[in-house]
Amino acid sequence: MELVPLTCPVCREPLSVGEVLDAGTVSSPAQLLFQFLCPRCAAHALARAEEGRLETGSLEHGRFVASSRAEDPELSVRAETGWLDSWLGGRYRRFPAKG
Ligand SMILES: [Zn+2]
Repeated sequence: MELVPLTCPVCREPLSVGEVLDAGTVSSPAQLLFQFLCPRCAAHALARAEEGRLETGSLEHGRFVASSRAEDPELSVRAETGWLDSWLGGRYRRFPAKG
């Protein structure tokens, strides 16, 4: 499937990398996944962050499938057991692992 520029997987409205990170809540650090509350439609949605790349998507049979993607060389990500950390443009955000 071809990936579109970063959008909410629920309402399909365009989102910036910073908006998705700002809306982040809890994470699954081992999978680099975190949940976010869409600032457009308020739905709970799923994102995956790695160095230089942010994707939104959904779980299919327990596996993350991306539906949209943004590349940003400034995005830095680090996963620990208890949280997922991200840095972008001098902003730091931490998403605690869900229980
Ligand atoms: Zn939405």
